[in-house]
Amino acid sequence: MATYKIAVLGGDGIGREVTPQAQKILEVVGKATGASFEFEPALIGGAAIDATGEPLPEATLRLCEQSDAILFGAVGGPKWDDAPQERRPERGLLGLRKELDLFANLRPATCFPMLVDASPLKRSVVEGTDLMVIRELTGGLYFGEPRGREEFADGGARAINTMTYSSREIERVARAAFDVAMKRRKRLTSVDKANVLIVSQLWREVVTRVAKDYPEVQLDHVLVDNCAMALVQKPTQFDTIVTENTFGDILSDEAAILAGSMGMLPSASLGGKVGLYEPVHGTAPDIAGKGIANPIAAILSAGMLLRYSLDRGADAARVDAAVLRVLEQGYRTRDVHEEGMRLVGTGEMGDLIANEVRRSY
Ligand code: NAD
Repeated sequence: MATYKIAVLGGDGIGREVTPQAQKILEVVGKATGASFEFEPALIGGAAIDATGEPLPEATLRLCEQSDAILFGAVGGPKWDDAPQERRPERGLLGLRKELDLFANLRPATCFPMLVDASPLKRSVVEGTDLMVIRELTGGLYFGEPRGREEFADGGARAINTMTYSSREIERVARAAFDVAMKRRKRLTSVDKANVLIVSQLWREVVTRVAKDYPEVQLDHVLVDNCAMALVQKPTQFDTIVTENTFGDILSDEAAILAGSMGMLPSASLGGKVGLYEPVHGTAPDIAGKGIANPIAAILSAGMLLRYSLDRGADAARVDAAVLRVLEQGYRTRDVHEEGMRLVGTGEMGDLIANEVRRSY
């Protein structure tokens, strides 16, 4: 039977509350299927700074490199807000992304039927939305050289950032996106600004070339401004979207509001050997320590871990279905609670979903 080593990095704030719920779900999957999960906890972010002085201790990095996947919570909080740049909690996450070369960020946006009214968009627009945004995470405008700022003697200034991509960088994220599309409805939309940007023209050329290796996937190219409009006009037309770093940063947040609540959004970062799975939300200092955080984003992230790192799509589908069933039964954490629903805390929501997963086998 398969043995999987999972690094568990809860981090700070509600990261430490929701991650154990995600781990609980994987434990249930392990028991039901005979797969063996070995969970190894490690420090990251503010908690790691307090204990070791470093946001990403060497031992944590080594553990992650030797694991099959990483279950991540969130890092940061007011306690470390005034620390110098290199001693800030988010350095831990950025360092991990860099060291593990996590170049593809996957963010699904699913509109749960029973939460459709939590979306700022009309029911008729958003109902049935089930899409995935894949954002290139390590290249483009945020990292390109030259970058900087020069001051002029007359008091003016000039600043520069560079959007740059090599064909190799485009090809690897395109392949990741086609692989994801193959596990979904086999439709991929590549988003660029090829009518203006030379770098987008290369992007389009490389994605089109990679498509030849995926004849089953239907590929189309859309300009980023059109995509931004279409996402709020007719989000159901999309399945998998792939785009470069800056466009992806913006479009994935736009897609996120379709789903309604921060507490419901999972994500994955893929690259080399080890994938990292984390809720999109942060450490929520306003509710940390109260046991009321919504664990669903973390639990759905564990589902993504099963699907994308362990190739256990059938188990992942059980996790997704269990979340739906518990919501259908009317259970809600405070962030998505409405009158007439049953209010539960973090641990209780985790238990309810774990029970549904167990029952599904
Ligand atoms: P946040 O996501 O932590 O919180 C935003 C709002 O959403 C808050 O009102 C919070 O209570 C609510 N919320 C978030 N997740 C929830 C959940 N699971 N259940 C119920 N309610 C939830 O964003 P923020 O307030 O901007 O940031 C707080 C801290 O988290 C900062 O230090 C920030 O740097 C850090 N952060 C970390 C990550 C990460 O580790 N990937 C991401 C974003 C923010």
